[in-house]
Amino acid sequence: MAELTLDGVTKWFDDGGDRIVAVDDADVEIEDGEFLVLVGPSGCGKSTTLRMVAGLETVSQGDIRLGDHSITDEPPTTRDIAMVFQSYALYPHMTVRENMSFGLEESTDMPDDEIRSRVAETAEMMGIADLLDRKPRELSGGQQQRVALGRAIVRDPEVFLMDEPLSNLDAKLRAQMRTELQRIQEDLDVTTMYVTHDQTEAMTMGDRIAILDDGRLQQVGTPLECYHEPANQFVAGFIGEPSMNFLDVELAGGSLVGDAFEYPLSEETLADLEGHDSLVVGIRPEDIELDGAADASHSYPTTVDVVEPMGNENNVYLTFDDDASAQTVVVTVSGMRKVDAGQQVAARIPEEAIHVFDRETGRALHNRTLDRAEVTEPNV
Ligand code: ATP
Repeated sequence: MAELTLDGVTKWFDDGGDRIVAVDDADVEIEDGEFLVLVGPSGCGKSTTLRMVAGLETVSQGDIRLGDHSITDEPPTTRDIAMVFQSYALYPHMTVRENMSFGLEESTDMPDDEIRSRVAETAEMMGIADLLDRKPRELSGGQQQRVALGRAIVRDPEVFLMDEPLSNLDAKLRAQMRTELQRIQEDLDVTTMYVTHDQTEAMTMGDRIAILDDGRLQQVGTPLECYHEPANQFVAGFIGEPSMNFLDVELAGGSLVGDAFEYPLSEETLADLEGHDSLVVGIRPEDIELDGAADASHSYPTTVDVVEPMGNENNVYLTFDDDASAQTVVVTVSGMRKVDAGQQVAARIPEEAIHVFDRETGRALHNRTLDRAEVTEPNV
């Protein structure tokens, strides 16, 4: 097992004289046995990062280390790394057993009977022992995915790299494989870098998540740190479903002033905003209260536009303003709570739950107030 370090890793492609920077100066240390999820929108450089670690793509600048050993210039075959692809990439003409044995036969001098017993053991663990003699075309998508994972596991590598391995599965199977993969990774204790564009996968699977946008790492932290203490507006909007609400505001006379409301701030919050006037206030849908009195502090009368019942909760859409620049705000409340379109409600935005961003740079100037223990403890 080993720690995986990306040190100033940069990748550019030459595109007819133009330089496309796919990954820009990425620094991440993935601890021994850690599950790190690299997440971001399409085209942000996730796969390129993973492919550089695997050795399938050259590094333009920077260094990649396993432990204290640089692997930057090593060919993929000598890196002790196993990769699982979205497409599974199984050999169609080989049986499951042959697919799983192939890597060990090619890259090690392990005796045949040991390979056989390792394949059998891994197949048992992945629940595919009865499929060993089938060809990939005789398997369902979920079964093929198990074989692809089994083929990586059987090699007992120092690092697993996984590129959207669950995205071809249906929603239910994906949720099931998510927990199964987490359990397997925890049992095997192998350093893992997992790429996805799905923030739910990132939040639920990662020990830590690294959020990438336009080739640049935006934040690396535990899921709860990224959720509650986003480094910037991009992270705040990307993590969480429904997304955080954002309203453009100006700082004037100790208050945040928007098109339709004025939001007085405490001295503590104001101190964080010093020197910045043009701002964005952010509030998570679950932090807005609909039960308060209209005259309570930070409470605003508004009308319900639409209610989306999700079963466990309702997404309630409100319009904060009735002029042309109206901004919609989404609030999540319990699914048992009865709310109807057209209903008048008082929406309270508690000051301890707001985030404030610089409108130009997106940097978080003020994040919600949290007890540190709440963020660092798992299972909060
Ligand atoms: P997706 O989630 O859609 O797979 P991604 O985050 O994995 O996206 P990458 O595939 O790493 O993104 O691509 C990052 C950027 O690099 C994109 O702008 C892409 O067009 C560009 N890119 C990737 N490979 C090449 C290449 N071989 N030549 C030129 N540009 C490339």
